[in-house]
Amino acid sequence: MATLLYVPRRPGCEVRLTASDGAVLVVVARSLDDPDPSVQGEEALQANVALATLVLAYAANELAYRRLRSPEKRESHKKEAARVAKDAVALADLTARVDSEEVAGWCSSCFEQATHRHVKGHNRPKRKFLCASCGTPTTECAVPGCRHLAVMKPTALLTLCYCAEHHHEIPGFAKLTQRLETLSDVEEWLSYESRNAARITKVAGGTIAAAAVVAPMAFLAAPIAGAALGGSALGGSLTGAAATSHGLAMLGGGAVASGGLGMAGGTAVVTATGTALGGILGAGTVSAYAGSDKSFRIELLRKGTGAPVLLASGFLTDKQDDGWGSWRPLIDARFPDSTVYRVHWGAKELADIGALLTLSSAKQAVRVVLTQLARRGSKAFGRLPGLGYVFAANDILSNPWSVAKTRAGMTGAALADLIARTDEGPFVLVGHSLGARVMVTAAQALGTRPYAPRIDSMHLLGAAVGSAGDWRTLNDAVSGDVWNYHSSRDTVLRLVYSIAERGKHAGGHRGFDSRFQKIKDRNVSRSVEGHSAYFAGIKLT
Ligand SMILES: [Zn+2]
Ligand SMILES: [Zn+2]
Repeated sequence: MATLLYVPRRPGCEVRLTASDGAVLVVVARSLDDPDPSVQGEEALQANVALATLVLAYAANELAYRRLRSPEKRESHKKEAARVAKDAVALADLTARVDSEEVAGWCSSCFEQATHRHVKGHNRPKRKFLCASCGTPTTECAVPGCRHLAVMKPTALLTLCYCAEHHHEIPGFAKLTQRLETLSDVEEWLSYESRNAARITKVAGGTIAAAAVVAPMAFLAAPIAGAALGGSALGGSLTGAAATSHGLAMLGGGAVASGGLGMAGGTAVVTATGTALGGILGAGTVSAYAGSDKSFRIELLRKGTGAPVLLASGFLTDKQDDGWGSWRPLIDARFPDSTVYRVHWGAKELADIGALLTLSSAKQAVRVVLTQLARRGSKAFGRLPGLGYVFAANDILSNPWSVAKTRAGMTGAALADLIARTDEGPFVLVGHSLGARVMVTAAQALGTRPYAPRIDSMHLLGAAVGSAGDWRTLNDAVSGDVWNYHSSRDTVLRLVYSIAERGKHAGGHRGFDSRFQKIKDRNVSRSVEGHSAYFAGIKLT
């Protein structure tokens, strides 16, 4: 059996994996957030990205366990270290038992059409393999007749597993690199090729990845996984942020997709992906994000000529919505001949925010909170106990603002991939409120790419985006200008930002005040008296 040895170093640590045949893999990390940990040793072991990733994840978690102070964090890292250590040892043992039998097929971990090498003695309930591209243990998909390979936990050899297509992590392997003619093709592209087998049969499968990625310390392993794959399977070179994001996706077992990183993690990753957009990783991302938002779709409102316009709304927009919402007069005046699409997104999250911000429910929220406080015998809450309490909740899941903001980020990331994947355009992006946040996120992700802008220009109305930021990627994303219409009388933005964002300012309230040439503030305070008044109060430049 393989063994793992942890050796503390100043600074950092060294972890030595010795396989049963004596082959050694050594990783050295200089710190908890070492961007470039070293991996040395037997070539065959090094070439197994999944194995190197697990050993790095072990190193990171063990190091975190020993270094951190907080008892909860230490406990969590200790558990995670034990778990990835077990996986690493099991995977190393599998590596030592590869024979000459091979099959070719899609890998549910790296999403490549890869060769899979057979592992001796593991043939029930299905044959077991190691993907030659990413090193992940794979097995034949449990759906009869399916030729794709499913991901398998190295320690769980006796379970039936389903491929990413039958698991509905992705719409279909062949679709991942597919290009779209127009945004009208998105719906069809996102539809699943196969039925969801996993939903019918309960499976105790899972991915190495899901295991490795739970702890934030797995970030340490990300550049390795990313760089290794960038060099081999992707046939290109990923560097820096792209390698990290790709690595993270890999750690997720093909899954930013399976939600391995969680909502917040996913957004952070994808907004830095740049080069992944329009490709395999991006497809997994869109599929995962769109799949988790039942309201997500892109609606064609009108066919026309000229730069196609893409709209996104935020909260507190009109209840009556024929698709155009409040947008029609504004868009008709400025882009009378353009094709117009609307991105529908986050219905649930936006409704929650909207409900909180309307007067009656704010009162209700206050009442609920006051009752709770009274029960706890506390009086210590500021002027707006209801909203303040709800927005400032530390638990991200109980804080509707964080949830909606995260959803906006995910939508923006998905949109960036769809824009990069589509031959139509360049696009004009128009967004109000959190819809403006969606557009800014999409543009920033696209702005990290080395190619020509896919965005013609942008119009942001009452943008729920922090006014202070590095707007370089936004500036780089457009060939024309980014118009930011802001109003000092937008009290909703002021309220949300002063409470939920702890004293920061919204770009839609104060302006961006950016020095980047293409980002232009338009103070419309005189004609816009509130958060919903932009539609009637301005003309697009
Ligand atoms: Zn693979
Ligand atoms: Zn399958």
